Amino acid sequence: MSARNTVEHPPRIAAPGFTVTVLNIQRMSTEDGPGLRTTVFLKGCSLQCAWCHNPEAMCREPQVVWHRQRCIGAHLCDGVCPEDALSREGSRVCIDFARCTACGKCVEQCPTGAFELLGTAWELAALVAEVARDRSYYEASGGGVTVSGGEPALHPRFVSAFFEHCRAIGLRTALDTAGLVATGALLELARRADLVLYDLKEIDADKHACFTGQPNDKILANLRTLAELMRAEGTPRALWIRTPLIPGATFSDDNLTGIGRFIAEHLADVVGRWELCAFNNLAVDKYERLGLQWAFAGVPPLSEADLRHAEDVARRSGVDPAIVVATGPTRVEAVAETSAPADHPADHTGGAEA
Ligand code: SF4
Ligand code: SF4
Repeated sequence: MSARNTVEHPPRIAAPGFTVTVLNIQRMSTEDGPGLRTTVFLKGCSLQCAWCHNPEAMCREPQVVWHRQRCIGAHLCDGVCPEDALSREGSRVCIDFARCTACGKCVEQCPTGAFELLGTAWELAALVAEVARDRSYYEASGGGVTVSGGEPALHPRFVSAFFEHCRAIGLRTALDTAGLVATGALLELARRADLVLYDLKEIDADKHACFTGQPNDKILANLRTLAELMRAEGTPRALWIRTPLIPGATFSDDNLTGIGRFIAEHLADVVGRWELCAFNNLAVDKYERLGLQWAFAGVPPLSEADLRHAEDVARRSGVDPAIVVATGPTRVEAVAETSAPADHPADHTGGAEA
């Protein structure tokens, strides 16, 4: 059945009220798989990476934040909070996140959008229709739809149904996962994905636990099982590994060499690309809005020489050198980007990692 025919006769999507909490929908992404993509970021994650560029995605529940630069000081939010979670320090509005229930009353009250609700419930049919709006771009560029997060595999029933409906209308699908999920859920989603983007952040078990709050044994085991699925069933059709290059953490010769050896030993026949995603420090405002300290706030981006060095180490680790690609802004490019707003997740690591 051609894609055009399926658009004219879309599959019936039942189960109204079947929803997932979406943090953001990013159109025209070039970082979450091939071609132009629409990336749907879901809330909730199984890791707590110290460098995370999407701290709003870690929590599964909706959250409300306040944007200092959007506030005009009209005080229309005074007294609006039923939980008494709002206070002022000079011109600054403070949210007591322990009290806030994300009811949204302050969001409704503010005419300038200074309050923002992070996390919106989307029904399946509406989300499929939303991503299908960019069909012509996918067709022209070889792109498609990517579901990221957070950890999208924490929502297996919804994402599985979403992928099925996307594919039924001719849209290519990609799952962006960090791999710490139930094996059955991962395989269910992988069977419905054209591409899986899989993070390998740190090969050393102790360091992985230190950096992300969780050990990596399940992540590595799931990845080997995913490779077996590809060999046995041919799904997903493609697998990309992604490693964030985080200064003082994952950006080390030992880590890149260790991950490369793992890929060479277990995945050489199935992996199509190993992306090294450069750290950026644009998430600092996100942490501030959430009332969190970020250990990487003052850490500069990598230099061009750093990226070339990482590529060189990775290519000498035992993998096919042709699969290694470094992505993301370097120090010079990042200077220009710091003036751009970073209100929504453009990626996970500065490249695109979950
Ligand atoms: S979202 Fe509701 S509970 Fe939270 S600060 Fe705003 S008004 Fe208060
Ligand atoms: S970097 Fe990705 S995997 Fe790590 S906490 Fe953030 S969203 Fe989760």
